[in-house]
Amino acid sequence: MTAAAPQDSELKELWKKVLTRLQPTIGKNHFITWFNKSCILNANAAVYKIGFPSTYAYNWVRDKYHIKILQALQEIDSQIKEIEYEVDGGLMNPDDIRGIDIKEFLFGAEKRSRQILVNQDKTECLCARTLNHKYPLNNFIAGKDNRLVHSACMAIANNPGGIYNPLYIYGGVGLGKTHLLHGTGLEILKNFPDKNVIYVTSEQFVNDIVGAIRNQKVTSLKEKYRKADCLIVDDVQFFGKKEASQMEFFHTINDLYESNKQILLTSDRPPAELDDLDNRLKSRFAMGMVVEVLPSDFETRMAILQNRCAELGLVVSNDVLEPIAQYIETNIRELLGALNQLIGQVQFNNIQPTAQLSLRIVQKFYSRDLMIKTAHIPTQNVYQGVSAVPTQTLSPDRIIQAVSEFYKMKPEDLTGDCRKKEIVVPRQICMYLMRILLDQSFARIGEGFSNRNHTTAMHACEKIENEIKTNYRVARDLNSIKIALGV
Ligand code: ADP
Ligand code: MG
Repeated sequence: MTAAAPQDSELKELWKKVLTRLQPTIGKNHFITWFNKSCILNANAAVYKIGFPSTYAYNWVRDKYHIKILQALQEIDSQIKEIEYEVDGGLMNPDDIRGIDIKEFLFGAEKRSRQILVNQDKTECLCARTLNHKYPLNNFIAGKDNRLVHSACMAIANNPGGIYNPLYIYGGVGLGKTHLLHGTGLEILKNFPDKNVIYVTSEQFVNDIVGAIRNQKVTSLKEKYRKADCLIVDDVQFFGKKEASQMEFFHTINDLYESNKQILLTSDRPPAELDDLDNRLKSRFAMGMVVEVLPSDFETRMAILQNRCAELGLVVSNDVLEPIAQYIETNIRELLGALNQLIGQVQFNNIQPTAQLSLRIVQKFYSRDLMIKTAHIPTQNVYQGVSAVPTQTLSPDRIIQAVSEFYKMKPEDLTGDCRKKEIVVPRQICMYLMRILLDQSFARIGEGFSNRNHTTAMHACEKIENEIKTNYRVARDLNSIKIALGV
């Protein structure tokens, strides 16, 4: 007669016991990395099958910790004879409760006490969001260009509703705006645990309002927002033309401001350039402090990479990190993404990280962008296999000339007013190349095209950047133009 197979809950408890035994023998960061979302999938007779959410974790644990796991299991139940391993991607699904959340397991009690629901009553308020503990303010590396914004956030955390109100942060994608918002909210709560901090994106705010109107719950929603001691709204450029929500937002901001409650906002552009927004709202945004978050310089990018390695408990030498910091210049999210790729490959293949590997990752991962970006590579490039191209001979006129020749149109067509589609895309390509190859400001680029607004140049660059990823023709055209330009 065989014993009944253990229930899922029993397996979970058993796995927790195993983890409790393993944990002191494995470094904390490794433990978190390799055992997160693991579980005992099933137990059949004396064979226990252990599940991991990724092949990385599966390979690593099987190779390094097999004996320890078996010993730990046998200490608990001497009948257990064998263990098997399996990859089960479903374990990463947030709704899948089989796997153990290791951070919760390690820091559960501590974390629970710190975890602050931004809004107390989730059922009534759809806007409730938890601030993300991944983004503490002291983890934001402020290079010389971003010290001001960082200091403003610190000042707010020490004195919410004080002089920097509202604080309006704007700047490009992946530069840490959301990080700063969460960090400031968390810091406020650390200093003033009773304060009610609400974090929403503008889209969530709009959805809340629309939902409340539909369900005739506008009054209770208004109350919720007005109870905030600090209202944080991310990406206000997405408010668009939704008048009812804009009005509600305007009144909310006014009421909070007048009661000295802190308001924090972000956007991809300065208030004056939020074309679809009511003027009163724009001027309200601009009344406190408006500050731009800027791309980090090389040293800061290196510091960000080193900091992330330290967080993960990894030691990676500077020469390995340098190619990543050198190539990925404008988006910290991508910078960290490339580092993740590197770490993944190193751990998966059990190899040493090298500068060559980093360079390969950056080139492969960002090959589309690099097609254009090669002009950024310094002439004295130390990394093998990458040709260096000087940029001195380039000028806006040469770019316009090359693009007009390629598309067989007059240079004046490109710089003029015509909005025909066959001219608009080449014009956007000119703008994009001026940005990428000459590092010109959007304002300067706009001026060269019949004094267009700098947002037009910004949109053109964003558009072409997206097109390169999705539209083979645009990517190919750009490449040919680049060759014609000798870059
Ligand atoms: P944004 O909101 O501007 O698009 P995010 O705040 O989402 O950018 O940042 C993208 C990623 O880059 C996040 O993981 C964030 O922690 C990280 N990051 C950005 N800037 C910095 C910085 N200066 N120091 C540390 N991490 C940063
Ligand atoms: Mg953001």
